[in-house]
Amino acid sequence: MSADLWPRVCEELRIVIGQDAFSHWIDPLQFRGCEDGVARLAAPTPFIGNWVSQHYGERIQKLICKSGTPVVRLDFTVLDQRMARAPAVPANSEKPARYAGAAAQAPVATSIVRPADTELPGSPLDPKYKFDNFVVGKPNELAHAAARRVSEPGPVTFNPLFLYGGVGLGKTHLMHAIAWQIQETQPEARVLYLSAEQFMYRFVQALRFKDMHGFKQLFRSVDVLMVDDVQFIGGKDSTQEEFFHTFNALVDQGRQIVITSDRPPNEIQGIEDRIISRLQSGLVVDVHPTDYELRLGILQSKAEAQARLHPGIEVDHGIFEYLAMRISSNVRVLEGALTRLFAFASLVGRRIDMEMAQECLSDILRASERKVTIDEIIRKVAEHYNVRMADLLGPRRARSVSRPRQVAMFLSKNLTTKSLPEIGRRFGGRDHTTVIHAVKKVEELRTIDAQISDDVELLRRMLEA
Ligand code: ADP
Ligand code: MG
Repeated sequence: MSADLWPRVCEELRIVIGQDAFSHWIDPLQFRGCEDGVARLAAPTPFIGNWVSQHYGERIQKLICKSGTPVVRLDFTVLDQRMARAPAVPANSEKPARYAGAAAQAPVATSIVRPADTELPGSPLDPKYKFDNFVVGKPNELAHAAARRVSEPGPVTFNPLFLYGGVGLGKTHLMHAIAWQIQETQPEARVLYLSAEQFMYRFVQALRFKDMHGFKQLFRSVDVLMVDDVQFIGGKDSTQEEFFHTFNALVDQGRQIVITSDRPPNEIQGIEDRIISRLQSGLVVDVHPTDYELRLGILQSKAEAQARLHPGIEVDHGIFEYLAMRISSNVRVLEGALTRLFAFASLVGRRIDMEMAQECLSDILRASERKVTIDEIIRKVAEHYNVRMADLLGPRRARSVSRPRQVAMFLSKNLTTKSLPEIGRRFGGRDHTTVIHAVKKVEELRTIDAQISDDVELLRRMLEA
């Protein structure tokens, strides 16, 4: 089953049943996957589940079949509205009620509701965030390997696993991937994934309703506890205290803990030393900022999914390279840019070329513009290759100066908004076709020559800094 199965089914459904009905009935559903001929869906209320099953069940089933995944039945569960879902059901709660939503069968009465007492404290897991669609590169290699390891069965090797790094670098994605993976390979394991804020919220609720016993029992009954964005716990003394106890209890029982944060343990504000040292006691892994290669890989992988959503859209050569070069802030922005490009192209029925990309993404490109000047580029490139600036601008054609010159032109094209003729002029009055040739040459070399690729990335970083 491909990851975009559900988005594709949705696209078609939206057309068939209209936007209104779609927003009302289909949008609120969560697709949980297909297995053994059964497609599993979760609805926010039994009523919605029944309605969809009755009115659209057959159509959904057919669309899923059409996209190559044979299913004979749809199975609806009820989504826990408050927290949607923990990947596994805690020991002290009953299983969520299932009501058969067979496409061909009459739906059962709406009164079969999920028991009210099963307040699962987890957050919903995003079906897009799995290991399958996580692109691995140098900057996240270690984090990925560690995440893989903790999702394997067997004794706990490092506890906790502490992942930290800047916004949008894939920490949450990795956490969800761990949860999905464990859920799939060890269905009996109780995995609890939640944000630090939800942990706090639960804690405060427990205090207010005098149910600390229930709170403790619940949190201490899990096999894997994952707390996302733990930096938010800083400064909240009583929550911290409780977190610390929960943490210790679980570690003592050999349960796995995974934590993420936007900074390393010792830099979290307002957190006690004993907690810092606890957080550091396992494996602390830094998720590094993306590099050009990784961004390009991510773009290519996400573009495949987009291309399936918007079939027939053509993308000019060099567009992804350009975006990977220009948008270095974070992956979320990169993803947003791609989604917008494809949506725009499909709306206006155009191919994605450079002009269109620049126009459509002007705000994003402007925001990540680094105000690098051609002079700076020439200076840095000359330094890096140990050639004279005058030679870069002059007529010499020896490889030892022509290659650096081409790199400098390439960087000028990619890091500034200067036009090709303007760049040509600044490089000793050269023609714009020379600049085009240089840009193409470097683009090509970068894919086959690791040295050039490293040089370009290094220079780009230095110029950006
Ligand atoms: P963080 O939690 O570190 O702020 P997220 O996990 O929310 O970041 O990632 C932001 C977006 O970027 C998500 O949509 C995620 O799927 C995507 N993303 C980040 N890194 C990768 C990667 N290596 N491969 C594929 N997608 C990624
Ligand atoms: Mg996150």
